[in-house]
Amino acid sequence: MIFNNPGGAPELACESCGCRWFDRQTNTCYECGTPVPQAEMDAYLKALQDFHAAKGIVVNAPRGRGE
Ligand SMILES: [Zn+2]
Repeated sequence: MIFNNPGGAPELACESCGCRWFDRQTNTCYECGTPVPQAEMDAYLKALQDFHAAKGIVVNAPRGRGE
């Protein structure tokens, strides 16, 4: 499931137990081991992009090299 934290940013939580900690290697919940569906991951990333766009946040902005 996806919900918004108090700052308005989307957060991904486990469908089964509601926990927000995931093993990023395997995309499974730390608490109960439920895998995160790819569709859920896509929806989360989309929500995050929308949030960043709305806030004017640039993620991984290119930086000058060697400066
Ligand atoms: Zn879980």
